[in-house]
Amino acid sequence: MNKTAAADVVIFGGGIAGLWLLNRLRQSGISALLFESNALGGGQTHKSQGIIHGGMKYALQGVITREAQVMADMPAHWKLCLSGKGEMDLSAVPILSRQQYLWAPHKFTSKLTGFLASATLSSNVESVSKENYPSVFQHKEFKGEVFSLDEIVIDVPVLVREMVKANQDAVFRIEPLCDEELKLDAAGNLVSATVYQAGRAVEVTAQQFVFTAGAGNEVIIKKLKSNDVAMQRRPLHMVLVKTPFDYPLYAHCLGLGSRPRLTITTHHTADGHAIWYLGGALAEEGVNRDTEAQIQAARDELYTLFPWLDFSTAEFATFMIDRAEPKQKNGLKPESTFSKVIQNMIIAWPTKLALAPKLTDDIMCHLQKIKLQPTLCDTRELRAWPMPPLARPVWEDAFCKNES
Ligand SMILES: Cc1cc2nc3c(=O)[nH]c(=O)nc-3n(C[C@H](O)[C@H](O)[C@H](O)COP(=O)(O)OP(=O)(O)OC[C@H]3O[C@@H](n4cnc5c(N)ncnc54)[C@H](O)[C@@H]3O)c2cc1C
Repeated sequence: MNKTAAADVVIFGGGIAGLWLLNRLRQSGISALLFESNALGGGQTHKSQGIIHGGMKYALQGVITREAQVMADMPAHWKLCLSGKGEMDLSAVPILSRQQYLWAPHKFTSKLTGFLASATLSSNVESVSKENYPSVFQHKEFKGEVFSLDEIVIDVPVLVREMVKANQDAVFRIEPLCDEELKLDAAGNLVSATVYQAGRAVEVTAQQFVFTAGAGNEVIIKKLKSNDVAMQRRPLHMVLVKTPFDYPLYAHCLGLGSRPRLTITTHHTADGHAIWYLGGALAEEGVNRDTEAQIQAARDELYTLFPWLDFSTAEFATFMIDRAEPKQKNGLKPESTFSKVIQNMIIAWPTKLALAPKLTDDIMCHLQKIKLQPTLCDTRELRAWPMPPLARPVWEDAFCKNES
């Protein structure tokens, strides 16, 4: 006879979306289990730059998009959690920077300056006086202008660790789920999912199954053959720079287009080296470059933007990662979170780390609407199952390869 386990809600995928939801469900007295096939946070979450966007990045052409509006509340929401007073106690998660800067290597156009200076978005934008520029810009060769955005940057690896802390009895490592192990009934409800670990199998049942598996959501989409949900991947070629100096910088460099030319966040390896993590147009346009060409492109960009810094002894590393999202017309960026209810399943992508609380709200609203009643949870057969490991930060992977 099959071994079985049951919970009110079963989640597949232990990135920010699954972990935020797991916490909220359990706080609300709803039993929930989360299954992760690799390492917690090891998908897109750990690769994110940790910026809690308030939408300004998406309004750089002077027009407030829907995307910008959706994100406008997020910094305040996260700040409350980070102070220990919000829906999630994230008071142990370090804030790496209290603001993200916006800079251009030259003076901003008057149209943009006017827009930034107007308090159109609830995300505060302030002009920064020279003496308050980030230290790297306090150089006579810097001829540009700096604004500060009300967008905090957080330590994502610690965030993931903290979100797992109170849920160690509910998070299990599994082998990658295959679609044959998902049993559907004639009405299209998911009756059970059989999960495997080290030769052991457990058939899991739930009132609701939630798929927050990032790119792994393709498994369930393939199984359902539904026209209502499809996924797209938008690749990035990110760059990590182990700098020979320690100038903490959290900033978007404004280019000519609607997207930042370069986005820089700063992180530290466990042995104390400063890492500049580079995204923005460099990463978007770098997807057709190989590692060597991407490193050269990054070197050229840094040389152009920071001619007074010496990167000759800096170490560079790159990696490719897909942003997994709901399919959009022309492969464009989605404007908000996405969750699709199909019978007793929900397929979801937050589309931004910052939007994980909103995605959870959407799912909780659905559970309220269907009047989900908490029932008993049975995890006896999972008791000896291992917890997935926490993913390593990408900068440790890139520059400290021999250490576990
Ligand atoms: C380079 C980069 C930088 C970014 N920077 C930012 C930023 O600064 N700010 C921001 O707001 N957003 C940012 N984002 C977006 C953000 O990281 C993602 O939107 C968010 O992390 C997605 O979270 P998720 O939980 O849906 O997916 P993921 O983090 O990808 O998690 C999915 C998890 O599911 C697991 N999984 C896969 N298949 C299965 C399966 N079959 N069964 C069980 N588990 C499975 C995976 O191993 C993974 O752990 C960035 C994204 C990238 C790629």
